[in-house]
Amino acid sequence: MALRDPFAAYNAGSNVEAHLVCGLLQDAGVPAVVIEDVSQVGAWLGGTVAEIHKPQVWIERADIERAGPVLADYERRNAERRAAGRGGREAGPPVEVVCEECGKRSEFPSAQKGTTQNCPHCRAYVDVGDEVGFEGWDEAPGGEQA
Ligand SMILES: [Zn+2]
Repeated sequence: MALRDPFAAYNAGSNVEAHLVCGLLQDAGVPAVVIEDVSQVGAWLGGTVAEIHKPQVWIERADIERAGPVLADYERRNAERRAAGRGGREAGPPVEVVCEECGKRSEFPSAQKGTTQNCPHCRAYVDVGDEVGFEGWDEAPGGEQA
């Protein structure tokens, strides 16, 4: 399906979301298509469209006014869902972990506390949330003593 005068109505976070929004628009009687990557758009519009690196939902420019309320409604419900999700899970500050293999520090989201993750520096397993501190280091490596 080709649009006569395409307009990028929605920048989606994923292909799944793009198809979801596209479906909502079509349900509302607005012809819509999903563009999943740059190459298709280039073929479509016969040129390079800058800054397209995410899936987008395209509609006819003439349908912008009809699509507006549909997109606004989708955004509003999306925001409510995100807010509800935040309340259900304990969100704290990121957990700082010192890798036992390479000694580098890294931060993990508090949601991963109590799990085992890979060190982003050396890929070794690290335990997130264990009290990894410096109190075990009896011998200060010189010059640091007060
Ligand atoms: Zn490491």
